[in-house]
Amino acid sequence: MAAMAMTSASAGVLPAVPSVCLKEEKLPIASSCAPLRLPQASFFGESLRQQSRGVSRKSASRKSGALQVSATASASDDSEKARLAAMVAENERLKARLAELEGALTLAMQGGGAPGSPAVAADVPAAAAAAAATAAAEAAAEAAAALEVVEEAAGTDQKRQAVPATAAQQIIWPSPQEEPPFWMRWPTSEGHVAAAGVVSGGAAGDGVVGERDPERLHIVHVTAEMAPLAKVGGLGDVVTGLGRACLARGHTVEVMLPFYECLDTKQIANLQLKRSFGSYFKGDWVGVEAFSGEISGVPVVLLKPENHFFRGGRIYGGSYNELEAYLFFSRASLEFLQVTGAQPDVLHIHEWHTAAVALLYWDIYHQLNLQKPRLILTIHNMEHHGECRWEQLDMCGLDGQSYLDTEKAMDDRTVGHNPERLSMLKGGIVYSNTVTTVSPTYANETLCNGWLSNTLLKYRSKYFGVLNGIDTEMWDPQTDPHLPAHFSPTSLAGKMLCKHYVQRGLGLTPEITPEAAEKLAAAASAGPVADSELTQLIRGERSPLVVCVTRLVAQKGIHLIRHAIYQTHEYGGQFVLLGSSPDGRVQGDFVKIAEEFQEGGSVRLVLTYSESLAHQLFAAADMVLVPSMFEPCGLTQMIGMRYGTVPVVRRTGGLADTVFDVDDGGNTEKGNGFVFDGINEQALDSALSRAVKYYKDRPEWWQQLTSTVMSIDNSWNKAAKEYIALYDSIRVRWP
Ligand code: ADP
Repeated sequence: MAAMAMTSASAGVLPAVPSVCLKEEKLPIASSCAPLRLPQASFFGESLRQQSRGVSRKSASRKSGALQVSATASASDDSEKARLAAMVAENERLKARLAELEGALTLAMQGGGAPGSPAVAADVPAAAAAAAATAAAEAAAEAAAALEVVEEAAGTDQKRQAVPATAAQQIIWPSPQEEPPFWMRWPTSEGHVAAAGVVSGGAAGDGVVGERDPERLHIVHVTAEMAPLAKVGGLGDVVTGLGRACLARGHTVEVMLPFYECLDTKQIANLQLKRSFGSYFKGDWVGVEAFSGEISGVPVVLLKPENHFFRGGRIYGGSYNELEAYLFFSRASLEFLQVTGAQPDVLHIHEWHTAAVALLYWDIYHQLNLQKPRLILTIHNMEHHGECRWEQLDMCGLDGQSYLDTEKAMDDRTVGHNPERLSMLKGGIVYSNTVTTVSPTYANETLCNGWLSNTLLKYRSKYFGVLNGIDTEMWDPQTDPHLPAHFSPTSLAGKMLCKHYVQRGLGLTPEITPEAAEKLAAAASAGPVADSELTQLIRGERSPLVVCVTRLVAQKGIHLIRHAIYQTHEYGGQFVLLGSSPDGRVQGDFVKIAEEFQEGGSVRLVLTYSESLAHQLFAAADMVLVPSMFEPCGLTQMIGMRYGTVPVVRRTGGLADTVFDVDDGGNTEKGNGFVFDGINEQALDSALSRAVKYYKDRPEWWQQLTSTVMSIDNSWNKAAKEYIALYDSIRVRWP
């Protein structure tokens, strides 16, 4: 990839970026604070703690799998077990030592960044403690690495045995009358047990025998979303998936996230208040509480301001001013790094929400203690660019007017207007060391179209398209706790059970009888069921289940989704839409369609957001529809494929990079779905009708296609490597 050839020019301080734009009088910060040199020590000394926690968590998870291990262990495993026990003991000793050192470090750091504190006095003990802590951390890392070698061998076996690919536990069959609906409970008697690890506590990379990078980077994401707790769309998935992939490769990763009032705190592991500090806003200092915890195995820092920001029942759309809230959050994140003395290698910022971090960093915090980090901005969707008046930028302590310059953060379209306006996303592009978007095709599209294309062309040498992956542990049909039955490319009985489960739950006409489903569940839990036996269970004509899981906004091709609902019904298929719209009119339109079909057995519209129903639909469906007008990357086509669901997509952005038509003569080997080009209903029909026809007429071929799409590697492995190469190309190496 071109990124690898990046010159060192982009790795140093920001090239060709306008000068300092801060209003000195607005910055009551102790700017004389000397930088604290704390290599790799992250917030609260978290990286050190993380290592020891990683080891103890792994040993705990090993304990819980002990039965499976002992069932297969040979006598020669005993010596490995003894070695493992010795390592765990050594690790306990190191943990105790680390705790001591962390205590010293915290004490030392407390004086380091607070306004008016004697920074030099703090520096001496901090440096000593940091050096000792680093040495101990290295020893712990060594022990952890050795431990992993032992665990890897046992761990893969455990996983294979613990979750047979076709295991159908005690399925609790759903009914449409259930209240609350079936997707709000676990589908099997054992589901909740398996879920504990996936939803909140599953350590990133557990069970994955993966590559580790030689040099450990400290990466801090500053983001508005993080899956699954604070997720609205793909941004949340990407932060968690990329974070977990980088953790698994041996890096230190932390995610800074607003402490939205609507977060389900029960699902945040080890949540605790760690420190309080003040962050500047509108001429005053606002109190902020910083909580640490873990979401899906990734360490998080949640910032809870004392003012009204981030209150309400949803991630976006609270009663506060969103722009001002994210400006505040951007500054508070940097302030937090400043007061804790952390010096990450990379600040990874996302979307317009946190793009202001780049401006704030170079024009305020880099002038203070925060010396080491370099910035990478990922644009997940260029449609939203964070329009901002200069007075609003003033609120977070920058001189807003000084950015009203087309070379800086000015929205070019507003030149000469009254008032002229700023774009946070544009500012982020100008002020970041590197900028990515989420697929190569979208990168090219945005260089050619849209008002930001001029800016992107100007900064083309630092702009890259890195195709998103999906988290293959969180989206895994062989282990997914949301599913009533599991399956794999070589054993698809579980997929048929998932389809039957959803059909029964939503009141759609089932493809097989309840008795056949019971028998299949029993057979599948005893061993693999031949594919040919599955097709024989179907009574009557084969009826494909098409799903669409989406935000209902214009970008997603609402008119085509609506058309596909009617057309699928016409073709004798079934259609389930899971989605909701922020626009009451659009939501109302779909409510009407839902009512139209509520008596029949072929169409259901579930107009809400549900993570678990999304998992169940991807597993149950035969096809996933993604007819987007534009799509920066798109995840549902990749998630669908992971669950053996064939994508039907419009050729745009990341969809063009991941789905290739089975009838594309020049590309038959890559063929994994059905693709159309135009934006009208006929174009959609050209793909949908072919998909339905193949499904009905060629069952064996379809089963083969199902297995093929499941085997495609859309994991984060490749993308994480590309991101790490980018991180590496911009970071600065301290002596
Ligand atoms: P975008 O980020 O534009 O919304 P993506 O395809 O990149 O689109 O990501 C969408 C993510 O959000 C996927 O993980 C998808 O499963 C999820 N999602 C979208 N709508 C819903 C919904 N109503 N319920 C549950 N998950 C949803």
